[in-house]
Amino acid sequence: MKNKKNVMVFIESRAGKIAEVSLELLGAAQGLANELGVQVEAVAIGHNLKTELKTLGHYGCQRVYYIDDARLACFTSVPYAKIVTNTIKSHTPGIVLFGATTMGRDVAPRVASALKCGLTADCTDLKIGEHKIKDKIYKNTLLQIRPAFGGNIIATIVSPESVPSMATVREGVMKMLPPNPELAVEIINEECLVKDTDFLTEVLEIISEEKAVNLKAAQIIVSAGMGASDPDAIALARELASALSGELGCSRPVVDSGILDKDHQVGQTGITVRPNLYIACGISGQIQHRAGMAEAKRIIAINKDPNAPIFAIAHYGIVGDVKDILTKMIKAYKKA
Ligand SMILES: Cc1cc2nc3c(=O)[nH]c(=O)nc-3n(C[C@H](O)[C@H](O)[C@H](O)COP(=O)(O)OP(=O)(O)OC[C@H]3O[C@@H](n4cnc5c(N)ncnc54)[C@H](O)[C@@H]3O)c2cc1C
Repeated sequence: MKNKKNVMVFIESRAGKIAEVSLELLGAAQGLANELGVQVEAVAIGHNLKTELKTLGHYGCQRVYYIDDARLACFTSVPYAKIVTNTIKSHTPGIVLFGATTMGRDVAPRVASALKCGLTADCTDLKIGEHKIKDKIYKNTLLQIRPAFGGNIIATIVSPESVPSMATVREGVMKMLPPNPELAVEIINEECLVKDTDFLTEVLEIISEEKAVNLKAAQIIVSAGMGASDPDAIALARELASALSGELGCSRPVVDSGILDKDHQVGQTGITVRPNLYIACGISGQIQHRAGMAEAKRIIAINKDPNAPIFAIAHYGIVGDVKDILTKMIKAYKKA
């Protein structure tokens, strides 16, 4: 489907494995492509990834342009950005999506600058719609939706006159579609046109550290806010999380105060989670926190203030002192 302005996803891989954020973006790309009547394509860069790339088909990718070279086994900014730029120039997608990860945030602005096109960072939603400027109507434009001004407004950003429209999306924001093993992807090998002189940095060693907490995968999260941030309340929240085989999350000020580390933070600048159960303990429920947990299947909120905004999205609300309530919940769950 050449010249059809397809939707393209930049595929990230680490240690030969495709990053989850790329699979989530393929789900979002599929929704956009269906609206536009175009296809989902991808660009993947690395070395010996061919077998791994076959799984992209299961997530709705129809075609992947693959650039394989031993020099590209580890990510470095300049060669990756040049390759993505060249791929976009050759295949002219209408929309390009990147993960708002360290790699995506490095590559996407370089590509946008080289192509002189728009780029919206950290989108929380993407839609296809119409945009009117004076008498001119732009149809089938990418509406790039994200919080702005510290989360006080939700802005819709469009760049209808520059092609492609490009956006980055944080991990966990888009829902990964269930894989369909019946679907296959066409893998198109592309020549690696970067020169040795483009490799300005050399990766000598990669030291990876396991995360102490995996909030994204947790089905139950007990999350502590500033109302549950003293050592006793944190210990109770941790105990309840462990009694429920869940994980301990928190709000941003709990991280900013040095009480828990960033891996625990839920929200706009933390992790986006979709657990079966989210227990918000002493969390007021500001928009930036809700942005990371509002899609939990069940929300229980504990707060001493009956007017706390968290109660507006909670399925069950408990008004009271967080320590009293956590103590009772731990006792009840342990008994059960
Ligand atoms: C750009 C930007 C990005 C941000 N990103 C994030 C983010 O990713 N995640 C995030 O969480 N925040 C984020 N914030 C901060 C956000 O705006 C709020 O300030 C924050 O979520 C508030 O945290 P909190 O609810 O724990 O604390 P508070 O707002 O201080 O609320 C504490 C709550 O605890 C209750 N409480 C107090 N004592 C008790 C008790 N004994 N028992 C029961 N309840 C009690 C109070 O009634 C209150 O509702 C961001 C802000 C900005 C500007």
